[in-house]
Amino acid sequence: MNRPKLNSAELFRESCFVGGEWINADSGATLDVDNPATGEVIGRVPNFNAKDTAMAIAEADKGFHVWRDMTASERGDLLYRWYQLMEENVDDLGAIMTLEQGKPLAEAKGEVHYAGAFFKWFAEEARRAYGETIPGAKPGQHIVVTRQPVGVSAAITPWNFPAAMITRKAGAALAAGCSMVVKPAEATPFTALALAHLAQKVGIPAGVFNVITGQPQPIGEALTSSPVVRKLSFTGSTGVGRKLMAQCSQNVQKVSLELGGNAPFIVFDDADLDKAVEGAMASKFRNTGQTCVCANRFLVQSGVHDRFVEKLSEAMKKLKLGDGFEEGVNQSALINRAAVEKVQRHYEDALGKGAQRVAGSVPDGGNGNFVAPVLLTGVTPEMQLCHEETFGPLVGVIRFDKEEEAIRIANDTPYGLAAYFYSRDVHRVWRVADALESGIVGINEGAISNPTAPFGGVKASGLGREGSRHGMEEYQEIKYLCMGGE
Ligand code: ADP
Repeated sequence: MNRPKLNSAELFRESCFVGGEWINADSGATLDVDNPATGEVIGRVPNFNAKDTAMAIAEADKGFHVWRDMTASERGDLLYRWYQLMEENVDDLGAIMTLEQGKPLAEAKGEVHYAGAFFKWFAEEARRAYGETIPGAKPGQHIVVTRQPVGVSAAITPWNFPAAMITRKAGAALAAGCSMVVKPAEATPFTALALAHLAQKVGIPAGVFNVITGQPQPIGEALTSSPVVRKLSFTGSTGVGRKLMAQCSQNVQKVSLELGGNAPFIVFDDADLDKAVEGAMASKFRNTGQTCVCANRFLVQSGVHDRFVEKLSEAMKKLKLGDGFEEGVNQSALINRAAVEKVQRHYEDALGKGAQRVAGSVPDGGNGNFVAPVLLTGVTPEMQLCHEETFGPLVGVIRFDKEEEAIRIANDTPYGLAAYFYSRDVHRVWRVADALESGIVGINEGAISNPTAPFGGVKASGLGREGSRHGMEEYQEIKYLCMGGE
């Protein structure tokens, strides 16, 4: 198997981490994992079934009872140490991520820093799980509100951010005093298992952070049918999110969902065009277009349309497509064949309906999972690329005349995760920010994700928030104590 040499070989694990032990599926079954840039198998992981998952839940339950009784400050210290170990191992974690996910190595290391920052943030937040007191409703009465950990929590995470989608859930959960069973995506289990290795090194008690791998359906069913699991946090597609939400109703599990998006990126006539292009590049091409907050529809006002398109196509010339391990590459293989075919489908549909290609080459499908960045103009809201997340490096520009028209098109989607717009008119900034139906609005800013801010969507983009103090609330129950007076 072709793997990069790691400084610490033990970070590459091919077993699950449960109850502080490295274990295989009871049946011995495994799943192969490949490198999306080459198609080569890079390793295999256990294929857990429902019974294996039940055992992991039981271990997480034991871990929970130890963890919740520790002080917030002890929990915070361990999270902080975990963050430090991520930093110390950034080269290895980045290499493992590029190997299984494909993203350029520099970007993978960037994700490790970003992911670690959630542990750092929540290490601090752990100490601030404040409650409140409320004046009593009767003489002598006292009302006290406390926050308690929800309990054993499950996380089902996607492949596009193999580290950060775990740490922003686990950081909040562990800070709140919950234990966790994490099921990473089949395509990217090794980053998750490397994080588990670091958790073990840090001395996080057995059963507090468990990582299990395998086919999603039986694992998902076991996690959502267990009365011990009190919370499910899921990041992935809206279809699977809906299904899991329904499954969570059995035991009325608390649920957080980070689902699909269809982000509009609006450039008004009064925008700083250089800033808008910079933001467009950051928002569209991060992870080769495979993020749920990637700009998916560009709406550009007539007065600046041609200049914006020219500047953007100029900026796109700096993109370099190749294997994520190659120096200087900033666009890499998409996760699999289906991802490539989706981009091709959107591209052909748009051209068939009258869009024009301004820059980039046609994704021809003959080149592994690689798709060159493409810029299209003359895009209209009926085209497929405006309805579905393309999840690839395809830019489609819609021309508009009036502000109201841009807002109407932007909101004409069942999704509402991120939206971006560029304007220097303060009145327009407030108007548009208020009118956009999305959980996150980037205003003259294309990079909106960070641990200090509440990330999450409205409409079919999800429920709940991750990051910030609100992220921790997702793993806490409010308890109110009513103390009667004499
Ligand atoms: P994508 O289309 O981006 O791969 P998915 O929603 O299919 O998104 O996957 C996100 C996560 O959900 C992955 O960890 C995947 O294994 C998991 N998943 C997919 N289907 C199910 C299911 N039926 N039950 C539980 N988890 C699932």
